[in-house]
Amino acid sequence: MRTVVKKVIDETVMKIYWEGFAPFVFPADPVALIGKIYACYYRSYEQLAVKNKCRPADIVRILKNPDGCVFYDRKKNHYMIAANEEGRSPARIRWTIAHEIGHVVAGHFLEIDMDFLPENKLMEEEADYFAASFLAPFFAIARKDFRRPAEIRDFFGLSQTAAEYRWNEYVDFLRLVNSPL
Ligand SMILES: [Zn+2]
Repeated sequence: MRTVVKKVIDETVMKIYWEGFAPFVFPADPVALIGKIYACYYRSYEQLAVKNKCRPADIVRILKNPDGCVFYDRKKNHYMIAANEEGRSPARIRWTIAHEIGHVVAGHFLEIDMDFLPENKLMEEEADYFAASFLAPFFAIARKDFRRPAEIRDFFGLSQTAAEYRWNEYVDFLRLVNSPL
């Protein structure tokens, strides 16, 4: 992950909670957050299918992603975030939507001249970092004095894999802040 992008993400997450864009309530609601981001809106694949008079499977094919995507309408300067809610757990949907917001926060569309993001491992990693930071911020983990990944999974509404990953990041973070100079 790029240091400059990490800084932007960290600062944005702080701003989201401390300036009241999201309440201190968990599991966090990424759709509610989208409603507060200027020129950004959310549609489920099902809503897109109804609007375009096709099946959700057609939306998956057109968007080339079974889970979610973010589209930037450069002319209107609008972001549309879409997620497939069909047959997916709330934890997975929550993560997908937060991940797509992460691409917007990280400014990925400002680096390219396309409406869709290309396959890019670094960008995916950065969007995941935003998802983890927004859905399970360190300050909230610290307040609860959690000791196990399962507690993070249940409290923040993450998948087991995401919770374990976030737990490891938290342990690394604690090691860093507690290490003697
Ligand atoms: Zn992505």
